[in-house]
Amino acid sequence: MQKILIIGGGLAGCEAAWYLAERGYSVQLVEMRPLASSPAHVSAQLAELVCSNSLKSESLDTGAGLLKFELRHYGSLLMQVADMAKVPAGAALAVDRELFAAEVTRRIKAHPNITVENAVQQTIPAAPAILACGPLAHDSIAAEILQLTGGALHFVDAISPVIAADSVDMGKAFFAGRYGKGGDDYLNLPMEEAEFDCFYAALMAADTVAAHAFEDEKVFESCMPIEAIAARGRETLLYGPMRPVGLTNPHTGRRPFAVVQLRLENRERTAYNIVGFQTKMSIPAQKLVLRLIPGLEDADFLRFGTIHRNTYVDAPACLDASQMLIAREGVFMAGQITGVEGYLESMASGIMAAMQLCAHLNGCDAISFHPETAFGSLQRHIAGEFSTPYTPSNFHFGMVPPLAERVRGKSKRKEAYSQRAIERVESSPKQG
Ligand SMILES: Cc1cc2nc3c(=O)[nH]c(=O)nc-3n(C[C@H](O)[C@H](O)[C@H](O)COP(=O)(O)OP(=O)(O)OC[C@H]3O[C@@H](n4cnc5c(N)ncnc54)[C@H](O)[C@@H]3O)c2cc1C
Repeated sequence: MQKILIIGGGLAGCEAAWYLAERGYSVQLVEMRPLASSPAHVSAQLAELVCSNSLKSESLDTGAGLLKFELRHYGSLLMQVADMAKVPAGAALAVDRELFAAEVTRRIKAHPNITVENAVQQTIPAAPAILACGPLAHDSIAAEILQLTGGALHFVDAISPVIAADSVDMGKAFFAGRYGKGGDDYLNLPMEEAEFDCFYAALMAADTVAAHAFEDEKVFESCMPIEAIAARGRETLLYGPMRPVGLTNPHTGRRPFAVVQLRLENRERTAYNIVGFQTKMSIPAQKLVLRLIPGLEDADFLRFGTIHRNTYVDAPACLDASQMLIAREGVFMAGQITGVEGYLESMASGIMAAMQLCAHLNGCDAISFHPETAFGSLQRHIAGEFSTPYTPSNFHFGMVPPLAERVRGKSKRKEAYSQRAIERVESSPKQG
């Protein structure tokens, strides 16, 4: 049988490989690491989560909750592994990132229909193939893609620091989820107003990494560096990543003025990431400023925050409705490089590309995912229905058509969108 080549063993590439292999196709998955790496990846494992270890909420009144339902429905490997590698994180699904990547790698390599090859793919492969080389694709293939698609676009993305658990001053910290939800999954570092003001002043004065050519480019809103949020005004932090709502400091019995939340990185509870603190501060500035947070005075940084270029193609112009390159029949694109934004969206895009490739190989028309579903919304997004000029986006309920009947209450309305989507997904014909 003809081999299907998948370039990139990240989130989209692994999902696509698994989907095709499970349906009997022979897959060759080409991954450049460890021969070459990106500025954000640190391991040789497949499906490495480069920044947060959170796959967001499980709740069906969120877009992430619905997307997870649809991923599971279509047999997502990464959802199966995430469920197995999860760490406590309240209503969110967070994973031990090393365990997660190791288990995905193990399952992919053990699959009889998948061969993993370590190589840097320099050119666009012959059909049938899926390009899932990510937003930090190797320069060689990025240049080829650029040439074929008439120019890639990019925005800037940042990563938050990780702290050793035993370096946190537990005399100042307290475990709690907001509004008592999620037990002791988050470690909270409360701040009084004077402490916050001191931190804020230092943050505003901090050095950032030396200006790169891309410095003046767009920063994706949900990955905005902490110092960029702060620059919008002191209150922005208090209503954003440092909001104290739903938390009572057991040391004082009061709601703190501001809070920094730490989320578990691993099952051993040896590391925490600072929630919402992606940053482009220089390393000396990170040490100085973040150690002003009460409880982090002696913080041992296991990973510093960084900032990276994030490349995507103008999907509405260069891909058809099935994610196939208009300029190269039988070669599909998947993942963040197509302009979907986020871990879950990249996984979904990998499965969608694999489904479309199956349809193509079987001589069928492109699959139209129902517009009321998350997959259908992502399909419409990459067709350019939601933004001009084209910009990357997460899935959100603003992408789905309105409900037939009015539902009162934001949360109830979102649940209704999810329920409607679930009915559509469950009644759609089985693919593959
Ligand atoms: C710095 C940064 C931080 C991010 N943080 C988050 C976050 O916290 N939460 C979130 O939801 N999303 C985040 N994202 C967005 C997105 O979800 C991730 O980038 C996600 O990993 C995208 O999945 P992917 O499969 O498209 O790409 P990737 O997971 O990056 O996979 C691409 C793979 O292709 C390989 N590769 C590249 N070029 C070649 C080549 N020429 N030959 C062979 N192999 C190649 C790479 O090594 C990599 O393994 C972040 C993105 C960036 C850039």
